Amino acid sequence: MTLESEKPASTKSAEKKAAKPSSKPATAAAGKTSGKKTDAEGDVLGIRISHADRLLFSDPDITKIDLARYYGVVAVRLLPFAARHPVSILRCPQGPDHQCFYQKHASDGFPDEIHQVPIEETDGDVANYLFVDDAEGLIAAVQMGTIEFHIWGSTVDRLDAADRLVFDLDPDPSVTFETVKTAAVDLRDTLDNIGLKSLAMVSGGKGIHVIVPLSKSAVWEDAKAFAKALSVKIADEDPDHYIATMSKAKRTGRIFIDWLRNERGATAVTPYSVRARKGGPVATPVSWEELNDLGVANSFRIPDILARLESGTDPWAEAKDWKQSLTKAMLKAVGAES
Ligand code: ATP
Ligand code: MN
Repeated sequence: MTLESEKPASTKSAEKKAAKPSSKPATAAAGKTSGKKTDAEGDVLGIRISHADRLLFSDPDITKIDLARYYGVVAVRLLPFAARHPVSILRCPQGPDHQCFYQKHASDGFPDEIHQVPIEETDGDVANYLFVDDAEGLIAAVQMGTIEFHIWGSTVDRLDAADRLVFDLDPDPSVTFETVKTAAVDLRDTLDNIGLKSLAMVSGGKGIHVIVPLSKSAVWEDAKAFAKALSVKIADEDPDHYIATMSKAKRTGRIFIDWLRNERGATAVTPYSVRARKGGPVATPVSWEELNDLGVANSFRIPDILARLESGTDPWAEAKDWKQSLTKAMLKAVGAES
């Protein structure tokens, strides 16, 4: 594991300036930074950013401090989904073209802005997991080389129950994006018929995540049983197009409906997370209408997202008022045992 040499940001929370993320998008969008030296330092919401000018992505150029500012701005949209959820971070201390690693446990010298919670793992051992609850936490993670954020489907306040379901549609490379879109819409309609409204997110990679926010959490046993039963049912009814088991060999020409995100400890990429892939694509919430017109899952980059925020675009706004939960009748409808 390659760890960066610089020390984490000092933690003077009390002295922090008031967060004014909306004042920054133009600068970050243009990819401008304050200095030219590679050891330039910067400051975002009171968090010191070392190697501020390190170039992380090109076309457009995105430096480390641009990334920190980006997370400072999107925090307002990202945190409603990710705050207080155990988080795994994908760190690429030298940049996304170099070695990256997932980290789910705290290590020495972690800044206070990234909080810790002891969680008992399946083997009975207790380990300190990470979570953030504000923009400073996201930025402190960027200072440590984080590019991607991945969350559990539950909060640290209620670890045993899911506050959302995620169906991760993973196409075999031979499957067109048009087909993935159709699959997502079909899944939405199926969920609708069961009584659950859902949201679409293009992953910034190849696929689409269909997300069911739950205003009343569902214990993991039910969440997993429902997601599995529904996915298996879809694959059984249309085996030419779908598969509900992880087997790569059997995926050829099909879409894997990954329901395994719906268990305790499993993660999915956070809405608005940048991906450590070429160009810095963003996992982007989209409306069902605009999904219709998209040609790929990785077309949104940092400046596009900042522009969407500037213009007030919030494709998932209506979901804030959704009141829905996983009922016994729904479990029964998909033939899930609970
Ligand atoms: P794509 O659309 O390209 O599939 P994705 O984010 O859905 O992008 P997947 O490979 O399908 O990527 O993985 C689904 C989720 O599983 C990820 O978003 C991530 O949260 C989690 N995951 C995958 N691999 C790892 C890993 N090695 N460590 C931790 N979490 C992982
Ligand atoms: Mn996926």
